[in-house]
Amino acid sequence: MKNPLSDRINSLPVSQTLAMAAKARELRAEGKDIIGLSLGEPDFNTPEFIKDAAIEAINQNYNSYSPVDGYADLKEAVCTKFKRDNNLDYKPSQIVVSTGAKQSIANIAQVLLNPGDEVLLPAPYWVSYSAIATLCEATYVEIPSSIETDFKITPEQLEAAITPKTKMIFFNSPNNPSGTIYSEAEYRALAAVLEKHPQIYILSDEIYEHINYETKPFSFAAIESMYDRTITVNGLAKAFAMTGWRIGFIGAPEWIAKACTKMQGQVTSGTNCIAQRAAITALLAPVSKIQFMVDEFKTRRDIIIGLLREIDGFKVNVPEGAFYVFPDVSEFFGKTIDGVKIETASDFSLFILEKANVATVTGDAFGTPNCIRISYAASELQIREAIKRIKEALS
Ligand code: GLU
Repeated sequence: MKNPLSDRINSLPVSQTLAMAAKARELRAEGKDIIGLSLGEPDFNTPEFIKDAAIEAINQNYNSYSPVDGYADLKEAVCTKFKRDNNLDYKPSQIVVSTGAKQSIANIAQVLLNPGDEVLLPAPYWVSYSAIATLCEATYVEIPSSIETDFKITPEQLEAAITPKTKMIFFNSPNNPSGTIYSEAEYRALAAVLEKHPQIYILSDEIYEHINYETKPFSFAAIESMYDRTITVNGLAKAFAMTGWRIGFIGAPEWIAKACTKMQGQVTSGTNCIAQRAAITALLAPVSKIQFMVDEFKTRRDIIIGLLREIDGFKVNVPEGAFYVFPDVSEFFGKTIDGVKIETASDFSLFILEKANVATVTGDAFGTPNCIRISYAASELQIREAIKRIKEALS
């Protein structure tokens, strides 16, 4: 008998990041000593001042539905944040708060994409972009890059990928999984191409904004000609160690924000009211309050790069932000190690899970099949042990 599930769900791939995290959990439950470097999740606790704000909100009886697009004072705080950090002028009517940046992205895709529309994905791209586009029956078009160009695409590549059907580009800097940060000049060069194609909307995912080590990231909407066509996505998960609180938000042209609110009103309603109250405190705090986590990530980045460079066959660049390294492991393809034939990055990732008990994510999930993603949002001890194990398994 045919599987009774919808074609929509049958054709949807599972999220590889979440699947790998689940697999690591499962193996741990079986008693295996797995080091999880698969999930992009800070290993810090949410800062006390944010937790206190949530506790206060509970005690003040914040327990009813919030407005669908978020509390008015939270939307004000989001506007303050956009002005302070990104020099972007948004009014509260342009803000929608959602259950994580993932829902923000899904909302935008749902309200802008029709079946058959094309979405440009500079690769590597975050796993859920392609899945979310597919759910909207849109087609995604990968624009490839490699470690040789620090995983950046060129304006020429962008131009060549555009067709009359192109409706959106999903852009992400600092990038998950490569950690790449585009410079302002590089943004402007890409914007010059997009200026010639006014039908294209830009989803600018800036969730890793604060996790940068050398340069402050730029914003697409800060380019005047792009402002009316850009949806700026951000949230609290990464920089504030608030992954489970599920707070994401957008700044967008008002008509897009309204449409997202309408969509959300039918699917989830306003997000968790306690998390929203805590988000106000988080967003209005000086960014210096979370700098200790960024400093720690930088130390770990330097450690993991140094260690990976000692392993023959790993090609490693220096990511400028986020908390991932994305080494090219294609040197291992076609080799048999410890009786296991490695043909793809998925084989490689599975090999180190089984032989080294270290969980990573295959680059296939991010549209870049020569690489694997290793998250260094883990303790220094775990990072050192994990890379030691990988080195041993490969030698
Ligand atoms: N964004 C994180 C990651 O890439 C969390 C998992 C997910 O939502 O994909 O690992």
